[in-house]
Amino acid sequence: MEEIRQVALAYFNNLSEKEKKTARKFLEKMDADKDRKISLNECLEYLKKEGFPEISNRKIFEELDKDNSGCLDFEEAITLFYVSASGRPLFCKACQDFLKEFYFTCCECFDSTSPTYDLCITCFQEKKHEQHKHKVFCDNHALLASKKTTMKGVMKKLASNLAVEVGIGSISVFCTIM
Ligand SMILES: [Zn+2]
Ligand SMILES: [Zn+2]
Repeated sequence: MEEIRQVALAYFNNLSEKEKKTARKFLEKMDADKDRKISLNECLEYLKKEGFPEISNRKIFEELDKDNSGCLDFEEAITLFYVSASGRPLFCKACQDFLKEFYFTCCECFDSTSPTYDLCITCFQEKKHEQHKHKVFCDNHALLASKKTTMKGVMKKLASNLAVEVGIGSISVFCTIM
C-alpha cells in the first residue's frame, strides 16, 4: 500500500490550488464529527452516500490505515480520494483481494465499454481466469506501454482523416486522473 500512497501524494502535490481545495473538501465532508480524522464509520457512510459503493469496503480502509489507528489521517485519506477518483481497478475478480501495484487485466474487456476484468498476480498465476470468456491478459505496466502505440495510431488516423491539427485537449481525457 505504501506505493499507492506515494502515488496519491504525488498527484496531490501536482494539483492546482483549486483542485487541492476540492480534494480537501472531499476530506472535510467525510469527517462528519470534524475531529480532523476519518473513522471507519465516517468513511464507509460517506462513500456509500456519495455513490462509491464499490470502494465502501472495510478491506480498503484497513489497507489505508497503515498505523492501525482506526482512523485515516490526511495522507491516508488522500490515498482514498485518489483511489475513488482515479477509477483504477480495485479488487481481484477471483479472490477479491485489493489490487496494489502489479495486476493483470483482460485486454479485450479493457478496450471495450464493459467493466474491466482484473486479477491479482497470484490468481493469474493459478489461471483463475479460465472461466473468463477472453484469453489475452496483460499486466498494468505492459498495458500502459501498449496504449502509447495505440494512441500514436489513433492520432495519425485522426490527423489524416480530418486533415486538421488535433488539439492535445482531445486526448487529455485519457490521462485525467483526478
Ligand atoms: Zn486474486
Ligand atoms: Zn475480458
